[in-house]
Amino acid sequence: MTDSCLFCEIAAGSIPASIVRRSDRVVVFRDVAPQAPVHVLAIPVEHYANLAQLSAADPALVSALIEEATAAAVDEGISDGYRVVVNAGWQGGQTVDHVHAHVLGGRQFNWPPG
Ligand code: AMP
Repeated sequence: MTDSCLFCEIAAGSIPASIVRRSDRVVVFRDVAPQAPVHVLAIPVEHYANLAQLSAADPALVSALIEEATAAAVDEGISDGYRVVVNAGWQGGQTVDHVHAHVLGGRQFNWPPG
């Protein structure tokens, strides 16, 4: 756990969140500002600032993250169509420096994204 990391604290249970799935290495919880009827975030318990750091250090954890994200889509009833997004870096729209996969569904999405 990294000090003063919001998502580390959610994973540790010291900041409350609406947790929908938890495995030994991944936690999935509802986004506090949902952008779709279903909007959850899948995070590794272990702290990695972004996708590049995670994938360089632990490819198996990338796989576990996607496994939990897609399982959450099934749990949430959106497996017919949903979007998984990892924002990376400031220009990619990343605002929390603990890697996370957004899982969004329950409405029509457009392409290209904004
Ligand atoms: P990103 O902009 O890709 O870094 O996504 C960060 C996401 O974290 C945003 O969608 C926020 O709404 C969400 N978020 C921030 N704080 C919390 C929190 N305390 N609980 C749940 N989601 C949060």
